[in-house]
Amino acid sequence: MLSKTYDMIVLGLGAMGGATAFELARRGHSVLGLEQYALGHDRGSSHGQTRIIRRAYFEGPEYVPLLHRAYERWYELEQRTGRHLFTVCGCLSIGPPDGTLLAGIRRAAAAHHLDVEPLSPAELRQRYPPFQFADTFHAVYEPHAGFLLAEECVRAHLDEACRLGADLRADEPVVSWEPVGLGVVVRTARGSYAASRLIITAGSWTGALLRDLSLPLTVRRKVVFWFSPPDPRPFLRHRFPVYLCETSQGFYYGFPALDPGGVKVARHDGGDLVPDPSALSRVVQPEEARDCLEFLERHLPAAVGPRSRASVCLYTMTPDAHFVLDQHPECPAVVLGAGFSGHGFKFASVVGEILADLAEIGHSRQAIGMFRLTRRWGRTEETG
Ligand SMILES: Cc1cc2nc3c(=O)[nH]c(=O)nc-3n(C[C@H](O)[C@H](O)[C@H](O)COP(=O)(O)OP(=O)(O)OC[C@H]3O[C@@H](n4cnc5c(N)ncnc54)[C@H](O)[C@@H]3O)c2cc1C
Repeated sequence: MLSKTYDMIVLGLGAMGGATAFELARRGHSVLGLEQYALGHDRGSSHGQTRIIRRAYFEGPEYVPLLHRAYERWYELEQRTGRHLFTVCGCLSIGPPDGTLLAGIRRAAAAHHLDVEPLSPAELRQRYPPFQFADTFHAVYEPHAGFLLAEECVRAHLDEACRLGADLRADEPVVSWEPVGLGVVVRTARGSYAASRLIITAGSWTGALLRDLSLPLTVRRKVVFWFSPPDPRPFLRHRFPVYLCETSQGFYYGFPALDPGGVKVARHDGGDLVPDPSALSRVVQPEEARDCLEFLERHLPAAVGPRSRASVCLYTMTPDAHFVLDQHPECPAVVLGAGFSGHGFKFASVVGEILADLAEIGHSRQAIGMFRLTRRWGRTEETG
């Protein structure tokens, strides 16, 4: 027995599903959003206070047009909702001059005429005294980068989707879906729903939901930490930027101090493989902080202080660390947004638009060829 029929069903209401539900509702569709946990929960990939947003994208110059649009859409969301979501504080990228990070930034900046400022080792020391790096490290400063308030962004999309009439349901896991006629039927523990289109934005649960496709997705456990510096003043956001550091020990990133919890820092590469995201341990062992603490001791010693918080989060990796944005290969009524590989949040505002385009008209006005399921899955280091 069908409970109800909709134009569009969005499966999973994290950063990407929330943005998609909002965009579809904004375009006048009847939308059902289904989330297995509470709305805005902390068991997926879209929590933990902040996310970096930047445009000089070392991961590939092809992302830059999407980032231009993502910036516009975040500003528009702020304007629509009256919420503060995006703080510009600049992004400092530090690494070997010809490493993945700095060479990639130079490539993206040159291809798209972006405003970035190269800093020599001496200029880095003079401008940002808390950072301690040998002369083999150079830097690039991107002034219009900054951070998004993660939970606020998710909440803004969800609230706005509801205001526009979307029916968003928490604690209602989808147990199965199947194509029926030209559309789909989705089953949950509470009912069955029909729709012309299904958009799957299930984060780390995508592989299990689409087992038949054998998607090359792997899930990694990531822990982020906050440390309280004895003197937080040099780390406040009017002085201190978000940063990325490519070092021989690993790829690290961090944020200014936003509250008494202090500075947030994490490692981007690596992370334990997670066979079942629903069974993930969220307990953080004291020794898990050692890696990030050693990074701070080596390169940002004035930030070292008591560990105030930690948060466990998930990366859903593709082999080439590029996203999946496509229609289901056997069922064009189903659209898929997945594999955001630890760098997707900043794009959520434009991903919502792309997935809405794919659901509505089967293609996007953005260039998304590199995100097709039919691409050859090259391998890359997990820097992203
Ligand atoms: C520690 C960390 C730091 C990051 N830093 C950055 C950064 O600085 N900048 C950046 O741009 N990106 C960053 N990212 C990446 C970014 O946060 C993610 O790419 C993005 O949040 C992924 O969103 P999502 O909607 O795909 O996944 P999720 O937020 O996990 O959403 C998927 C949702 O689907 C739901 N779901 C799954 N299965 C079902 C089902 N059967 N029924 C109903 N609901 C279901 C889940 O419960 C979940 O709510 C970071 C990620 C992490 C973990």
